[in-house]
Amino acid sequence: MMSPSIHPNAGFEIMVKFCLQCKNAFWGGQFCPKCEGEVELLDAAVPENQKYLSELNIDVRPKYYARSSMLLTCFGFIMALPLGMFIFIRGMGETGNVGLWAGIGIGTIVLISWGSWVLSAKLFNKQMEVVKDTKEPQLD
Ligand SMILES: [Zn+2]
Repeated sequence: MMSPSIHPNAGFEIMVKFCLQCKNAFWGGQFCPKCEGEVELLDAAVPENQKYLSELNIDVRPKYYARSSMLLTCFGFIMALPLGMFIFIRGMGETGNVGLWAGIGIGTIVLISWGSWVLSAKLFNKQMEVVKDTKEPQLD
């Protein structure tokens, strides 16, 4: 009687695999879905493959930076709204000029949102420069 061969890890843990050619990481699979032909994926959990992981990190960083700059932008929007409202309500209490304080309030929201967006974009570009500088040349 033949028993089907099952990978010892099958069903117990998520397999992180990576491709040495395009340096992308994938969840399982045998061949790289991005590369042409049948480029075999390496299992990140195997000790002899872990020497390649530092190379992979170089290409993971931009994703991380993109996420943190996105968070900063979101934070700017979240902070801008109550501040704009606060300025509007406070200004209204003093003079009651709706148009003027609505304009200043909205102006504040727009300015902070725009400022945080510009700042996060600058920060992202700066971090990406570091990535470019330390990235090892592709020799293949
Ligand atoms: Zn690949």
